[in-house]
Amino acid sequence: MTTSRRRATLGIVERVADSKYTPAAPETITEIFGEQVFNDSVMKERLPEDIYQKLKKTMIERQPLDPGVAEVVASTMKNWALEHGATHFTHWFHPLTSRTAEKHDAFIVPKGNGQVIYQFSGNDLSQGEPDASSFPSGGIRQTFEARGYTAWDPTSPAFIRKTSLGATLCIPTAFCAYTGEALDKKTPLLRASEALSGSAVKMLKLLGSNNVTYVDTVVGLEQEYFLIDRNYYNLRPDLVSCGRTLFGAESYKGQSLDDHYFGNIRERVLNFMHDAEQKLYKLGIPVKTRHNEVAPGQYEIAPVFEAANLAIDHNMVIMEVMTDMAAKHGLKCLLHEKPFAGINGSGKHCNWSMVDSLGNNLLKPGDTPHENMQFIVILAAIVRAVDKYAPLLRLSVGLAGNDHRLGANEAPPAIISIFLGEALNSVVEAIIKGKKPGKTTNGTIELGTGILPAIPKDNTDRNRTSPFAFTGNRFEFRALGSSQNAASPVMALNTIVAESLDFIAEEIEAKTASGTDLAAAVNEVIQKVYSDHQRIIFNGDNYTAEWEEEAAKRGLPNLKSTVDATAALKDESTYDLYEKYKVLTRNEVDARYNIKLEKYILKHDIEFKATMDIAKTMIVPAAFKYQTEVARSIAALGSAPAEQKKLLDTLTAAIDATLKAIDTLKAMIEAAPEEDLMEHAIHYKEKAIPAMNEIRSNAETLELLVEDELWPMPKYREMLLLL
Ligand code: ADP
Ligand code: MG
Repeated sequence: MTTSRRRATLGIVERVADSKYTPAAPETITEIFGEQVFNDSVMKERLPEDIYQKLKKTMIERQPLDPGVAEVVASTMKNWALEHGATHFTHWFHPLTSRTAEKHDAFIVPKGNGQVIYQFSGNDLSQGEPDASSFPSGGIRQTFEARGYTAWDPTSPAFIRKTSLGATLCIPTAFCAYTGEALDKKTPLLRASEALSGSAVKMLKLLGSNNVTYVDTVVGLEQEYFLIDRNYYNLRPDLVSCGRTLFGAESYKGQSLDDHYFGNIRERVLNFMHDAEQKLYKLGIPVKTRHNEVAPGQYEIAPVFEAANLAIDHNMVIMEVMTDMAAKHGLKCLLHEKPFAGINGSGKHCNWSMVDSLGNNLLKPGDTPHENMQFIVILAAIVRAVDKYAPLLRLSVGLAGNDHRLGANEAPPAIISIFLGEALNSVVEAIIKGKKPGKTTNGTIELGTGILPAIPKDNTDRNRTSPFAFTGNRFEFRALGSSQNAASPVMALNTIVAESLDFIAEEIEAKTASGTDLAAAVNEVIQKVYSDHQRIIFNGDNYTAEWEEEAAKRGLPNLKSTVDATAALKDESTYDLYEKYKVLTRNEVDARYNIKLEKYILKHDIEFKATMDIAKTMIVPAAFKYQTEVARSIAALGSAPAEQKKLLDTLTAAIDATLKAIDTLKAMIEAAPEEDLMEHAIHYKEKAIPAMNEIRSNAETLELLVEDELWPMPKYREMLLLL
């Protein structure tokens, strides 16, 4: 092993995490929860009653904020932040990258006499104007009109981010171009949630629930990640620049023994988790579960579900806090979808449901026939939406990193389907077969099947292989990549379900208008919807080759890569859908199409460069050294014994093949048709990525031959198993 690798390995044993860092003693969760958040209780306590009421109204009814109110809120927020040691504030937003962005301003203004005073106006709170010229805009914004605006999102409370030497007030904001076009992920999410709320309320009214004023989407995000020792991480240029290993032979011990999943959490890891969670509690994030995941070195953290917008902001903060805290504990938190080949990658399960303004979960089969009717209609809308718009859902989780999971023989597959479970599936089948609806005494409608059978919650027939599974009172969209911002998938889901609810409502209304009674109309419509879209329901094992065949027979799309899925954005029906629901304009859709492809290309550019460089400057030189050694000892023997000669030949051939593969990749990159984004991306997918994989596989042959002492990078067995 090279000296640096040995030092890293020994460093783990002798490690003093971060010599300057002493974790704070754990505090009582109930006492610290939300202490760094300008939350409802702080506002209620500190704001004048009328201002508080106006602000609440703005939040609930999602109305624009009155400037007078903003002024008072700003000054209260500033005083609160100063008490917490804040010196700066920032508008915190989600640009069209996979990260969040922030530009800090100190609370100060010069007084004119050489001194400064603290100031923070209503305008500072409501709106910012960062120079936005370097954020991806997908062509929406020309550089000469580079202004972007951030606007406060009062539905996600401001919070204070503390580091060892200071504190900053972070204000969650939306980010738009001066034309009002969204340059971020939050804005379309808010618009889509609005659309879904409108359509759901309309549907509930139609079915007889008149008191519902809005419907919230709620989301619980399970976040998977890997932890490795930071010394190893620093010695892997591929991990450092790409977030995943571009080289590496499998560890002898991987996940085959299934002994990591839910296994005993090692003390070093548990201390990291405790420490990170304490920070998260202070930020008002209700993290609840933690456990070891399937792959060695893999873990999961999940908070309790919250309103979608807040849950997504919180998920971004969780990723940021974990990254920072890992560093303090001498660890690296890897959020990439596939840091290591040959073992599980990481996802982000998105648990999704709708809650009405009266607090009812619309995805919970109810206790009364009326509630069940409502549930069955909403379920029909979801089934139709997922079937009709499967490519949009696939696209919403399409990113270069996730291509290593979806469509690459790993969970879940690229084919979108729905798991309902046995009980619910039999209800759907009964409806399709045409059971007649009846009427109950209080005038509500019920299915011919009467009250729904008890639908088992969290039962054993939970299907872990399905990309979109019903789990008793919610759907679990499992295809999200671990590193991604969940805003886009939830935006897509909310929009397609809104459209589907409207479609069903209109069909029902058309029937009642021509004299059919409501119960019969509902029954006829959902019978047709379920039979038209039954093909999307699949309750079996999604990992099998048989399912792939069966899905093809059913006509379900199998969009294996991000590039295949991106084409769906250019479909006229996509523009129509997003325009109709005022979620994305045509221009905004085009921008996202461009950015998707640009990002795919740029990410691969980095991987290609890193692959060629590491192969050429680290791996081949190590192989040459070993080749020289072997050649020398064979020469010293005078005549070469056959097996030894064979070793030398294999080694020589693998070095040669590696060098040749580097040349091929280089040629493939040069041959890329750069004028057209889609063609460029397709070329990368079909020509350049296979060439990169060829380098990797030759390097793997070398790794398994070359003397361990000479190998230039930490190996899988070290990174994954030593902590
Ligand atoms: P699993 O068994 O699926 O791994 P976890 O406990 O890890 O379950 O995570 C489940 C997530 O789903 C949590 O974030 C939880 O709060 C969330 N959740 C529970 N009920 C709902 C619901 N009705 N709507 C949305 N999310 C929910
Ligand atoms: Mg889980």
